[in-house]
Amino acid sequence: MHAEIIAVGSELVSGQKLDTNSQWLSLKLGDLGIPTHFHTTLGDDLDENIEAFRVAKSRAGLVIVTGGLGPTQDDLTREALARSADQALVEDAQALAAIEAFFARRNRTMTPRNRVQALQPEGAEPIANPVGTAPGIWMKTGGTIFACLPGVPSEMKVMFDGEVVPRLKAANLVGRVIVHRVINLFGKGESDIEAEALELTARGRLPEVGITASDATISFRISSQGANEEEARLGCEATADLIYDRFGDLIVGEGSEDVAHGLVSRLRSLGLTLAVAESCTGGLVAERLTRIPGVSDVFQGGVVSYANTVKIASLGVPADLLERFGAVSPQVAEAMARGVQERLRADLGISITGIAGPGGGSPEKPVGLVYIGLATRGGVQSRKLELGPEQPREIIRSRAAKHAMNFARLHLSR
Ligand code: AMP
Ligand code: MG
Repeated sequence: MHAEIIAVGSELVSGQKLDTNSQWLSLKLGDLGIPTHFHTTLGDDLDENIEAFRVAKSRAGLVIVTGGLGPTQDDLTREALARSADQALVEDAQALAAIEAFFARRNRTMTPRNRVQALQPEGAEPIANPVGTAPGIWMKTGGTIFACLPGVPSEMKVMFDGEVVPRLKAANLVGRVIVHRVINLFGKGESDIEAEALELTARGRLPEVGITASDATISFRISSQGANEEEARLGCEATADLIYDRFGDLIVGEGSEDVAHGLVSRLRSLGLTLAVAESCTGGLVAERLTRIPGVSDVFQGGVVSYANTVKIASLGVPADLLERFGAVSPQVAEAMARGVQERLRADLGISITGIAGPGGGSPEKPVGLVYIGLATRGGVQSRKLELGPEQPREIIRSRAAKHAMNFARLHLSR
């Protein structure tokens, strides 16, 4: 059994709003062991909706529809579903009572337009909506189950979890549980990493392992099935151990954890503190670090030293270093790192100075040239990064921030 998701709304196909419901629903269905094979997005047009519902009915055992259940004229899901199933629309007493109760609770009078929200195709069952006026629709037609939910994401989610999942379980549609375990790596390219893991990502291997890249972080995604969550989780373990053994220090974390988490967990386990001095990243490292709750135990703070005057006044970078080598140089990166480490009384100081572009490059110092510095109690060092020159400013800034955090992280793992 597989599912299709239909997202209805002209604001979605015109590009004004992003269809986030389909992604959320696919992830949820995947957790329930129901794979999604189709996403259909279409506007508020009756004939096109009828057609889309007929197509979905012919190729999917479960169809989740979101949107088009409001009280206005462009809300066509009720009518389209009835027509695609050759059923009449009838007023449902239970749905009407629920809508009337919703208005009564808020001391508002129900408008005649809201009454259309009580219409349901003959043979359908309303899905209770605890947070809004529009009830959903649960209907079996020609061997396919349709579950129609409101488009508003918060209402859709509550109704899916509270009303649709129990119905799917009762109908015995919930398959084997699928668990995904995501292991994130940083510091090597996707093709290099894949070349070292060909037998893991081979088609047909169980559990399945996929590899994806996002903002230079490479992720192994292990997907394992089981009769229950524990069994599925266990199925990931041997493969995860293999990845840990093989990639060791490149691994920064799991799930949503990235380089910043990897660095913070090293700092925490060693009981060390950190301060940052940022030029071209303008505070990105500090921003990434402070996304992590409770990070004040290891993160002291930072200085955004964009202008040379601030590098001198706030970090104590000698003016003659700036003059002789320029702001983008290993000497200045090291002085910035040492300066922030000392002034913020941290065990480690990280620094970043570079040319993020699009202008400001020269043959000797092209766009994308970045120096990162690291000061520790034992000494100070720097590294040269060449991240351009063709990359956009945002990519150069983001990569520089990640490489700087990774530089410190790797230093601490030795
Ligand atoms: P509707 O139920 O069609 O009246 O949709 C109500 C509102 O929910 C729309 O104006 C959108 O802002 C939002 N919405 C509808 N469908 C989606 C979707 N697929 N993803 C995200 N938001 C949506
Ligand atoms: Mg709509």
